Amino acid sequence: MAGRVGVLAVQGDFERHCDSFRRAGAPPVAEVRTPADLDGVDRLVIPGGESTTVGMLLERYGLAAAIRDRVAAGMPVWGTCMGLILLAREVEGRLQPTLGLLDVTVRRNAFGAQVNSFEDEVEVAGVGSPVLGVFIRAPIVTRIGPGVETLARYGGQVVAVRSGAVVGTSFHPELTDDTRLHTWFLGLETAPEK
Ligand code: GLN
Repeated sequence: MAGRVGVLAVQGDFERHCDSFRRAGAPPVAEVRTPADLDGVDRLVIPGGESTTVGMLLERYGLAAAIRDRVAAGMPVWGTCMGLILLAREVEGRLQPTLGLLDVTVRRNAFGAQVNSFEDEVEVAGVGSPVLGVFIRAPIVTRIGPGVETLARYGGQVVAVRSGAVVGTSFHPELTDDTRLHTWFLGLETAPEK
């Protein structure tokens, strides 16, 4: 059973994730803004938002190092949209600060601008029937390193990946009523796999 779940609350749609976890029956949900906040949680979600801004702020607040240390010690982390970008080791064509916790390359805004946002069904490995994927200036994964598993594709593009307890999705399950992915994330083991 999962302990306290943290949602990175520096910028972006963190409140929606908190709501989804509450609806999924999670234990108390904590907003994480400082390394001390991170100490009080046993798993973390990085929500959608602006990856350039948040990447810089994570370094400035000392959160980047704290998150890297916790993930190295086995803490599960799930990034949605911006969160996936921040977890990636590389961003195509850009030098922007990321956590580098997933050995993948991502392409930002791969489906176009805000006006090209869309929703469609996505089959995610391990979740059963398709989930509704909400894509808002969503990234795709264009390179997958060894040890990284593809969990979902959309239109031939990789839109969900996992490496141990580090998970990234291009889309926003927190903007739907469906809490299956939140429940699934709460079930990920916190112990290191190797
Ligand atoms: N396009 C945004 C970025 O690159 C991500 C959009 C989102 O999180 N909905 O940071």
